[in-house]
Amino acid sequence: MQLKSLVLSGFKSFADKTEINFSDGLTGIVGPNGSGKSNITEAIRWAMGEQSAKSLRGERMPDIIFAGTDLRPQLNRAEVTLNFDNSDQYLPQEPANVMITRRLFRNGDSEFYLNQKSCRLKDIVNLFMDSGLGRESFSIISQGRVEAIFNSKPEDRRNIIEEAAGVLKYKQQKKKAQSELDQTDDNLNRVADIVHELQ
Ligand code: ATP
Repeated sequence: MQLKSLVLSGFKSFADKTEINFSDGLTGIVGPNGSGKSNITEAIRWAMGEQSAKSLRGERMPDIIFAGTDLRPQLNRAEVTLNFDNSDQYLPQEPANVMITRRLFRNGDSEFYLNQKSCRLKDIVNLFMDSGLGRESFSIISQGRVEAIFNSKPEDRRNIIEEAAGVLKYKQQKKKAQSELDQTDDNLNRVADIVHELQ
């Protein structure tokens, strides 16, 4: 699977609609300090479901919306679209071209689209979970992250390895099943109490 293009509009320093096409092989993005190179990788992470404003160098999520300059007023909406070539069926349930879009309004409302159909954040997160491309994966390593990974706790490092190995999804399903079992146990205990009272 390959990221073919990225379309940003109103995202951080990219006020105007900007399309970046990625060709085969290695792509390098160069530019002066503060020109928006990191904003590009943050846009990719954000569209793929990043939920932490801090990890996008903001305080609140609306901080990712173009904040305006002396010459230009702020915008009220940020939008990022990613187009993937999935012809190798890396995401097995998805078509040959996968398009995801995330939109955020200054009032906090957000919208997500998978192949142009409205969906939930959870659908996007699940789509990439265990693909090695998830928002916590090491497919995007931002400045300082290498050091942070070296200095992280063994459990945190293990989570990264588990995502790469594809077991995280099953661990989460197990956790959900366990909590349903616990709830069923509680219900059974309650029924037993009632039966006992009635006898
Ligand atoms: P460096 O090479 O120093 O790491 P860079 O090319 O990676 O820089 P970024 O950190 O991506 O640059 O971009 C920083 C720029 O983005 C700053 O000029 C900052 O003012 C601008 N910026 C960040 N958030 C917003 C926003 N919400 N609205 C407008 N501009 C923003």
